[in-house]
Amino acid sequence: MLLDGKVPGGLLTEKWDRHRFELKLVNPANKRKFQIIVVGTGLAGGSASASLAELGYDVKTFCIQDSPRRAHSIAAQGGINAAKNYTNEGDSIWRLFYDTVKGGDFRAREANVYRLAQVSNNIIDQCVAQGVPFARDYGGLLANRSFGGAQVSRTFYARGQTGQQLLLGAYSALMRQVGKGKVKMYPRREMLDLVVINGKARGIVVRNLVTGQIERHAGDAVVLCTGGYGNVYFLSTNAMACNVTAAYRCHKRGALFANPCFTQIHPTCIPVHGDYQAKLTLMSESLRNDGRVWVPKNPADERPPNQIPESDRDYYLENKYPSFGNLVPRDVASRNAKEQCDQGKGVGETALAVYLDFADAIKRDGQAVIAKKYGNLFQMYEKITADNPYQTPMMIYPAVHYTMGGLWVDYNLMSTIDGLFVLGEANFSDHGANRLGASALMQGLADGYFIIPYTIGGYLTGSRLDRVSVEDQAFRDTENEVNARIQKMLAVQGKRTVDDFHRQIGLIMWDYCGMARNNAGLEKARKLIQELRAEFWENVLVPGKTDDLNQSLERAGRVSDFMEFAELMVIDALARQESCGGHFNEAFQTEDNEAKRDDENFCHVAAWEYNGVDVEPAFHKEPLNFENVELSQRSYK
Ligand SMILES: Cc1cc2nc3c(=O)[nH]c(=O)nc-3n(C[C@H](O)[C@H](O)[C@H](O)COP(=O)(O)OP(=O)(O)OC[C@H]3O[C@@H](n4cnc5c(N)ncnc54)[C@H](O)[C@@H]3O)c2cc1C
Repeated sequence: MLLDGKVPGGLLTEKWDRHRFELKLVNPANKRKFQIIVVGTGLAGGSASASLAELGYDVKTFCIQDSPRRAHSIAAQGGINAAKNYTNEGDSIWRLFYDTVKGGDFRAREANVYRLAQVSNNIIDQCVAQGVPFARDYGGLLANRSFGGAQVSRTFYARGQTGQQLLLGAYSALMRQVGKGKVKMYPRREMLDLVVINGKARGIVVRNLVTGQIERHAGDAVVLCTGGYGNVYFLSTNAMACNVTAAYRCHKRGALFANPCFTQIHPTCIPVHGDYQAKLTLMSESLRNDGRVWVPKNPADERPPNQIPESDRDYYLENKYPSFGNLVPRDVASRNAKEQCDQGKGVGETALAVYLDFADAIKRDGQAVIAKKYGNLFQMYEKITADNPYQTPMMIYPAVHYTMGGLWVDYNLMSTIDGLFVLGEANFSDHGANRLGASALMQGLADGYFIIPYTIGGYLTGSRLDRVSVEDQAFRDTENEVNARIQKMLAVQGKRTVDDFHRQIGLIMWDYCGMARNNAGLEKARKLIQELRAEFWENVLVPGKTDDLNQSLERAGRVSDFMEFAELMVIDALARQESCGGHFNEAFQTEDNEAKRDDENFCHVAAWEYNGVDVEPAFHKEPLNFENVELSQRSYK
């Protein structure tokens, strides 16, 4: 089946304005008649709930954490992109659009990316009006710094806590609507299924994580903002609660999953240090503004970094990519770090690390300036590693960080299930095969503040929505299925903990579907995943009961979905016989070891339809048409 992204006609620069004009409006007095369900309170969900309620819709908002402010978005450090061009460096909407399409290795939908660049400037205005304390320059304008894949400074930031400050802005807007009674907040609820009636998303089934009670909620549309699935790798920089459950269970109800193998491995993270580690820590990409990446030229060089003279160091990114230097995009920086370590030049105890050195920047600008820019990141690094990065270079290594794949959505952000909209990291929409730094916050807020408020109205006015009740049979059936799955998990009473299974599936994914992939490894991974999944259902130990607070049960549910979803990622990676962005199949590389695309055969979005566990999913494709940028081999030299 060919998928229709429903991209409006006309000039790229005019599509969104025209579409907004053509979308049917919901009369202000009628908005309160619609009940919208929003799942997730990160930047995408928080901004969507606040904006929809502000428009007059009745909103129910759900999240796993005890407060919307604890969504994973709070962890975002480095910044958010926008094409304001305050720095007079020649930035523009067009340049941000072009950089994003190119950064994603030409695997994103042009029209979506252009719209994202267009609304980027509105986001900054909105957040400033909310009081988000962005850094400012000497003249009072908002300050900018550089992120990878761009030659202009367009990243707005609030020290190393940009996500936290933006989320506080969205949270304030959300709580204003809670106060007005337009949003009803349901914290500590986990969505475990979607209720589909006559082909339309009409509600959700959630588990109250404190009491264990299963609840049914009905609505006229469901807006899924449940974040990314990087935790399928077990070790990642994502918050512990990040998961694929809500998205995957919608997938099982008919929503196609797009490009699941597109994973982003971030180059600047604190290296793994032991077998029993459960989390990896990101050192923000902003550090590559001033930090220089290097390894000793000689693999046998075991001197401490400060004793290795310039002549014996290889600043491999600066040497190989003189135009972009240390600020090449993440996929390129990560692969190069791996390449250096594979050649035996890795540093530290495990030899799986490279240096990120601030000595030159401190000499040039002084420690106080560097501390002002990155102080909290340096402090965090020192707390974790007991090394002082002002005195000795940081050691960094790539780690799983972000997932570009997600539920397939059309230009209106609607999935293949009518009335199920997907926003933020949970959808696949804007980043192609590699996301540029500081573009996730931009996308989440664009989706929530500026896109869904328009497109949901078009759906609600244009659809026949019969009254539904949580007493309808479809709700009861879905609840029964949720209960049956929980009981099945509790009944196994095997010998291995959920975390043990999670760690193992993560290792399989990292080894065979990680930074570099090959067909033999992927085939092997598929078999290993199937075997592990079978063992999970025979040997998992989930202590406790369902009608209580039970974190093992919560995790078991999420890991059981990872067990199925991991196979879909591998299937997708096997089907894409090319390399692009974060998907690097070793058989497809240029002479310089860069990703080699096959535009003739793979210039498309791969979207998968669920057919059952252990049954081959059906492949659908959305061809990508580039009318405004020329497809070229990416070069950052
Ligand atoms: C360490 C780190 C630093 C980052 N720094 C940056 C940066 O500087 N700039 C940038 O642009 N991007 C950054 N990113 C990426 C960015 O933070 C995320 O992509 C973005 O915050 C995702 O926002 P979201 O709203 O889509 O999802 P999230 O913030 O992940 O929110 C998901 C929400 O869904 C809820 N949820 C999930 N599953 C369920 C369920 N089953 N039932 C009910 N609720 C559910 C959660 O409770 C939560 O409220 C960073 C990522 C990491 C890991």
